[in-house]
Amino acid sequence: MSHHVDVPEDHPRYESLLTRHRIEAGVDMGITSRQGLIAQGRGEAFDYLLGERTIDSAEAAERAAAAYLLLAEHPVLSVNGNVAALAPGEVVELAEVVGADVEVNLFNRTEERMQAIVDHLREHGATEVKGLAGDARIPGLSHERAKVDADGIYDADVVLVPLEDGDRAEALAAMGKVELVVDLNPGSRSARVADVPIVDNIVRALPNITAHARALQGASEAELRDIVEEFDAEWALADAEEAIRSGEFD
Ligand code: ATP
Repeated sequence: MSHHVDVPEDHPRYESLLTRHRIEAGVDMGITSRQGLIAQGRGEAFDYLLGERTIDSAEAAERAAAAYLLLAEHPVLSVNGNVAALAPGEVVELAEVVGADVEVNLFNRTEERMQAIVDHLREHGATEVKGLAGDARIPGLSHERAKVDADGIYDADVVLVPLEDGDRAEALAAMGKVELVVDLNPGSRSARVADVPIVDNIVRALPNITAHARALQGASEAELRDIVEEFDAEWALADAEEAIRSGEFD
């Protein structure tokens, strides 16, 4: 199927339309679920109200996320069908910079979709991708929703979970993991249970976290600890909500 799209670069929603086409292509490739299309629509609405930009509080959250990932013993980046369609190369790059594992983790798990996403990530440079084993369970969730890798998310101390469902975000937090959540809705349960809620589009958030991680690579442990301690999740959520409520249509 062809996904050639002619979106004029001066179109006011250029970036947004490109993103939408990537999700459509993801559905055709068997990477993104139909529910993923709905999630995309919700995300677009919030992003529109934010002005399709990284607000200052999100930038602070991205820096705190980078510090957490650098401090972690075993960081894992969780990838679902939307993330795989929107930013596969960006996931691989961040994983390399912070030394994290990449694990495919689906809300609606099918072996075909798991494999398609693993293959897609490999095409974008990933060497090892976890998730297919599914040999451990997150406590408190029904069978299929609970599956993770014993040597991946189950064992992680810090997890980056973009566009995660609220139940799973809560269950992961209950396991005592530091949770870094990328979600454009500051009112979602996932954002509210996160240690670091990043209210930004995943296509902007990942490169920003990577840039901060690169800049912080020489920082001492004490400096990194100061960054995570100074970050205030409540403030970041309130600031994002304020930006959305007071946003002007352009
Ligand atoms: P919760 O259960 O946490 O309350 P929800 O039911 O709203 O969440 P879903 O619709 O499963 O959750 O999740 C999609 C979430 O991801 C939405 O909050 C949406 O705003 C967000 N989202 C969608 N696309 C993007 C994107 N490209 N970048 C960041 N966030 C996005």
